[in-house]
Amino acid sequence: MSNESNPLRTLVDFFRFKKIELSSESLVSKGIYSTLDYRAIMDSAPYDTKRKKLFLDEAVKKRKIKSLSKGKPGTIISRVLPESRNENNGIDVSLYISDKTGSRNAVKWRFNTFGGRSKCPVCKGIFSLTHASKCYGLENTDSLFTFDTVKELIERLDFLSNALKK
Ligand SMILES: [Zn+2]
Repeated sequence: MSNESNPLRTLVDFFRFKKIELSSESLVSKGIYSTLDYRAIMDSAPYDTKRKKLFLDEAVKKRKIKSLSKGKPGTIISRVLPESRNENNGIDVSLYISDKTGSRNAVKWRFNTFGGRSKCPVCKGIFSLTHASKCYGLENTDSLFTFDTVKELIERLDFLSNALKK
C-alpha cells in the first residue's frame, strides 16, 4: 500500500501539519505504519474492499489478544500465552475446561496455588510450580494451556495432583 493511500500516514501528516503535540510514546509518533507487524498485515490484506475489512478486523483482534499477554516476565499475565486465549474474547483456556477437577487444577496452576503448600514428594521441599520441571521433568506446563492441548494439560495436572496427595 502506498503512503498516499494509507490513512495512518495521512493522519500522522495531519497531526504534524496542525502542530498537534503527541506523546513520543504514542503509536502515531512512533509511526505505527512503519512497524514490521503493521506492514506484514497490510501487505497480506486482500485488495477487495469487503474482504479487506474482514481481514483487517481479524488482524486487529489477533493483535489485541497478543497485547493482552504483554506483562512483566514471571507475572501471571505474561504466562498466559496468546494461544491460551479464546480468539474472540481473550479469556484463558483454563476457564473453558468442563471437567471439574481439571478446571480446578488449571485455575490453581494459573494463580500459583496449585499444590497448596504441600510437601514435594521428590525433594521434600514446599511444592511450587517450578517443581513440575525440577522434580518431575515435566517442562513447559504453561505451554499446554491451549485449546488443542487441553487434554494433555488435564492429564499432567491430574498426575501431579495425585502425586502430591501420596
Ligand atoms: Zn520438589
